[in-house]
Amino acid sequence: MAVKKVGRFSFESPFVRQLEEGFPWLRFRPELEPGFVESHFERTRNFVRAALYAGLGLIVLFFVVGYVMGYPTNDWIANLVRFGFLAPAFLAAIIVSHIPGLRQAFRTLVVMTALAIGLGYVVLNATAPDELRQTGFAALPVVIAFIYFALGLFLQTALAIVLAVTVAYVIAALLVGVPADQVAYNLALLIVANFVCGIGSYMLEHALRSAYLEGQILGEMVERDGLTGLYNRSAFDRHLDKVWRMAKRQRKSIAVLMADIDHFKAYNDKHGHQAGDECLKKVAGKVAAAARRPLDFAGRYGGEEFILVFFDIALEAATRVAEDLRRNIEALRIPHRASPTAPNVTVSIGVAVVEPAETRHSPAGVIQLADQSLYECKKQGRNTVVAGEIAETHIRTGVFKSA
Ligand code: GH3
Ligand code: MG
Ligand code: MG
Repeated sequence: MAVKKVGRFSFESPFVRQLEEGFPWLRFRPELEPGFVESHFERTRNFVRAALYAGLGLIVLFFVVGYVMGYPTNDWIANLVRFGFLAPAFLAAIIVSHIPGLRQAFRTLVVMTALAIGLGYVVLNATAPDELRQTGFAALPVVIAFIYFALGLFLQTALAIVLAVTVAYVIAALLVGVPADQVAYNLALLIVANFVCGIGSYMLEHALRSAYLEGQILGEMVERDGLTGLYNRSAFDRHLDKVWRMAKRQRKSIAVLMADIDHFKAYNDKHGHQAGDECLKKVAGKVAAAARRPLDFAGRYGGEEFILVFFDIALEAATRVAEDLRRNIEALRIPHRASPTAPNVTVSIGVAVVEPAETRHSPAGVIQLADQSLYECKKQGRNTVVAGEIAETHIRTGVFKSA
């Protein structure tokens, strides 16, 4: 987990990176796209279902209105399309939308329904009596708008469907003998309709995608420290709890490293609070860089104290990591003119390693041991690492809660 100041955020995450990079083609990186698709379909499910009910109602309504107005309603092809093809497609999508386990099937059915409406309408129009065909055509742009906006489809999917519908319309119209100039005019109308709907759909999807990324980032910010971008104390508590249970199950060890800047009060007093903040950020960068593997954790415990957690690591390895970190921070060479122990800013690091399955300790116990090791560093003169391993013999009643 590298901490780098990215734009307006103090931490780096795939969501921040995606927002900064942009997504002009309405596609996120492969690792983010499935999460968005899932969330989008869950959010729009009820609206899409309502649109499907409305669509089904419109099919019936148009049939009834046609009947009342004396249009022929006994055309078997038209009725087959309406009631043998479109209505069942709508009904199937509506039914599946009510079954929570069939998410993927619902998405597929919505796409199929969109295609069915478009192509179904083309067939209805082509088979209409000659004198009604041009009046009927006027509804096709509305059908196209329905496909773009009412079914929660992504622009790319909607575009593929309306392209198929437009091509189908031109072929069908020419096949049933609509004059070429009339077809050309209608095609121009369809292109305009697609253009207008396409722009609207692009802006809508872009806004939805931005809102999704911002929502995810907001969720991440709750876990972050505003100054350094490292994880905060409550994120640490949750992480330790999680890896503690994993380590117990898998009989692995956990290391907790507590790092504290030496003579930081004096640094603030000498160099000013602003410089103190800058110093904290630089040190945080090194702390973050020490957490490299997916389960490694680096956080700000509070004030000028940092905390790291490592999963499945022995005492020697944890001590080596701590020693590297101590050296890396010293190598920053941040001048500390008020330190009685070193010319530059240094840290003391207390290390504690525990095997949750072997001992009766709690997460609080390992933090306490790291803290004791840190205290030992300070006693030894600072800018050093002290490690402790919890063994049964270390248990002091009342100090470590049993797990
Ligand atoms: P020791 O070597 O024993 O750790 O001494 P210390 O001075 O580092 O320890 P102490 O706990 O006395 O002082 C910690 C200081 O850290 C006090 C506080 O002003 C400073 N501090 C805590 N949080 C911040 C912060 O966010 N920004 C700045 N600039 N200073 C902070
Ligand atoms: Mg302190
Ligand atoms: Mg300190």
